[in-house]
Amino acid sequence: MQASKYHINTLKEAPAEAEVISHQLMTRAGMIRKAAGGIYTYMPLGLRVLHKIERIVREEMDRADAIELLMPMVQPAELWYESGRWEQYGPELLRLKDRHQRDFILQPTSEELITDIARNEIHSWRQLPLNFYHIQTKFRDERRPRFGLMRGREFTMKDAYSFDRDEASAQGSYDAMYDAYMRIFSRIGLEFRAVAADTGSIGGTRSHEFQVIADTGEDLIVYNPESQYAANMELAEAPCLLAERATPREDMVKASTPGAAKCELVARQLDRPLTDTVKSIVLATENAETRETAIWLLLLRGDHELNEIKASKVPGLEAGFRFATETEIQETFGCVPGYLGPVNTTRPVKVIADRTVANMSDFICGANAADYHYTGINWGRDLPEPDEVADLRNVVAGDPDPAGGTLAIQRGIEVGHVFFLGDKYSKAMNATFLETDGKPALLQMGCYGIGISRIAAAAIEQNHDGKGIIWPRAIAPFEVVICPMGWHKSETVRNTAQALHDALQERGVDVMLDDRDTRPGIMFADWELIGVPLRITVGDRGLKDGIVEVQARREAEASRIAPDDAVAQVM
Ligand code: ATP
Ligand code: MG
Ligand code: MG
Ligand code: MG
Repeated sequence: MQASKYHINTLKEAPAEAEVISHQLMTRAGMIRKAAGGIYTYMPLGLRVLHKIERIVREEMDRADAIELLMPMVQPAELWYESGRWEQYGPELLRLKDRHQRDFILQPTSEELITDIARNEIHSWRQLPLNFYHIQTKFRDERRPRFGLMRGREFTMKDAYSFDRDEASAQGSYDAMYDAYMRIFSRIGLEFRAVAADTGSIGGTRSHEFQVIADTGEDLIVYNPESQYAANMELAEAPCLLAERATPREDMVKASTPGAAKCELVARQLDRPLTDTVKSIVLATENAETRETAIWLLLLRGDHELNEIKASKVPGLEAGFRFATETEIQETFGCVPGYLGPVNTTRPVKVIADRTVANMSDFICGANAADYHYTGINWGRDLPEPDEVADLRNVVAGDPDPAGGTLAIQRGIEVGHVFFLGDKYSKAMNATFLETDGKPALLQMGCYGIGISRIAAAAIEQNHDGKGIIWPRAIAPFEVVICPMGWHKSETVRNTAQALHDALQERGVDVMLDDRDTRPGIMFADWELIGVPLRITVGDRGLKDGIVEVQARREAEASRIAPDDAVAQVM
């Protein structure tokens, strides 16, 4: 590949709205261009990265005997009526009508369609197990799509669906996918962790997320460095840790108890969900100086996603609480109950202590956070005594790891999710097969997602420096770039660079020859920003000594070696 025939357009500045480094760098490197909020064109360089990720995913899915097909993006609503998710999914599901006023959806995931395929295609136990997958554009009308490819509205996902005769066999399919995911993320070259995850509204006990470790991740992972234990903080087992973490977040507490020099915050998940789709949390704030305590009840509504949150003070924590009306909330807090931020779990625990905490002030007080004072508000007997708060703290103190030990917390980006579904969809949609005794039985299912486009962003969150992206070689748009110094001026340089390029290409290396003849500083800066892991610099001066320079993107020093050796070195 020659740069003069390719499209390279790097930018000095990132768009103001780009909050995370992957969004900034992908835009600056010319890998993505925004079409609308959360909707991007994958530019040539970005597309190469996605293709490389897809290729690894395909190879490992095929190796695990999953079978590729391609389901449509636009799917008939009837299937979603059948599963009940037309009602349940909420505003993240994009609904469309055709010219005959028939309802369709843009698939956010494809359980319904694949279950329809399965019930028509699978007749006998002899055909099982089966695992179908596709790599397809997804659409989720995310509330706040603000992190580039990390949380797009349109994005690329690999989703697989397994079908088995019984639970034991379905567990085997699940394990096979788990293993395939371990291989996939190892091959991509990311630091990751498989963690036990929330089964949310789907229920059941088996679910794991694959989390790429990065400080900017939206998820919190709690793990035991001494044991195998690792779980998403969403799992309610770790609320005590959340309470600990919550303490330093004075910004939020201040917002709800203004004037407080130091506030303590305790959090607790209510023991029982209020309905299947509504969960709640209790949040207590305590002003360390005045010992004034406020208890908030946040009601989280939603199925797969949370999309509506209501607040109320709790009149008496243990007995007979009721929920405030919207008017009451408005009167009490001076704002309408609002959205708490990019919450995406049915487990509300992390809402309290982490990323959404900063948004609590918006939530509770709207734009008037700074002006808000609750002194005067009549809490009456609804205010618990200080030792009641201490009790509350005791309730949440529990050890989430059966093995014991000190737990560590780190942030992660969810790049994959494996899920045991059981007969949730097969039952709702009557997807059966004939067992050995000739009787129909429900298919046992699992579903397995990988965020292809999110992986590209996650890789950057984990691998970058002040100059730009540092791609893991397995998914780099180009593995090697050859930078000739004086392409037009020196025939020797030209010949050597071209020969190196051809030799590498012949050996199957993804190589780019930068024949644009730009100034070295600009040329280097471009490729450092783009993140090509290896650079070979060819110049007259070096060639006089019989050497070229091989520079690894991650290393400070270049190695000076003969052109022939350079080929071997970068292989
Ligand atoms: P999140 O918690 O980040 O909202 P999710 O749990 O809703 O993700 P799943 O339904 O488990 O996502 O989908 C499978 C995979 O698809 C996720 O593990 C993630 O890698 C990817 N994914 C989900 N939502 C998005 C998005 N908005 N943009 C990019 N990738 C996404
Ligand atoms: Mg999730
Ligand atoms: Mg989500
Ligand atoms: Mg998930």
